[in-house]
Parts: sequence; C-alpha cells; structure tokens
Amino acid sequence: MEKNEIFSHIVDIEEKLGNLYRELGQLKQKVVTLLEENHHLRIENEELRRRLESEYTSSEKKGKSKSTINNKKVVGEGYDNLARLYHEGFHVCNLHFGNLRTEGDCLFCLSFLNKSQ
Ligand SMILES: [Zn+2]
Repeated sequence: MEKNEIFSHIVDIEEKLGNLYRELGQLKQKVVTLLEENHHLRIENEELRRRLESEYTSSEKKGKSKSTINNKKVVGEGYDNLARLYHEGFHVCNLHFGNLRTEGDCLFCLSFLNKSQ
C-alpha cells in the first residue's frame, strides 16, 4: 500500500467511525425517549388499574345491596363506567381484570356486565 492509499484509508475509517458515533448518539436519544414514554405509560397504567379496581369493587358492593332509588343510580353509574372501560378495550372480569383485551370480546366480561346491569 502506498502512503496516499494508507492515508485515504485512514480518512475513510475516520469517517465511518464518525458516522457510527453519530448513530450511537441517536440510538441513545431514542432509548431515553422510550424510557420516558415507558415511565409515563406505567404511571398511567397504574392509575387506570386503580380506577378500574375502585369501579369494580363499588359496582360489586352496590350490586349486592338492596336497591333503593339512590343505590340504583350509583349502580347505573358504576355499570356505565365498567361498560365504557370494556368498550375502551379493558377487561372488567375477575380473570383478567384491568388487562387490555387483545382478542376481541371476552365472555367473562360480557357475563359480568350482564349480571351487573
Ligand atoms: Zn374479560
């Protein structure tokens, strides 16, 4: 290899390293963004689970109690909330409570919703 060739080879490698370094920086930035997004989603998920659980327990309690006019209204609201959550794609059944529905309708959810109505 001649001196010129060696030199241009080094310049070439230098350029490639520069590109790799830039790519690494971009990847690092993407990981940071994903981690932040993950953190927010985790918090949102916990909050949704908490809300679902309180809807679930209040609807279950109300469902068992003797219905007065006042109770009926609350049962109706609890039911509406659960039905809404179900239609938003979450399980409201005992088995998969709070999880995202990934395979269409869930028979357990539907029977639970029918019972609570
Ligand atoms: Zn379900």
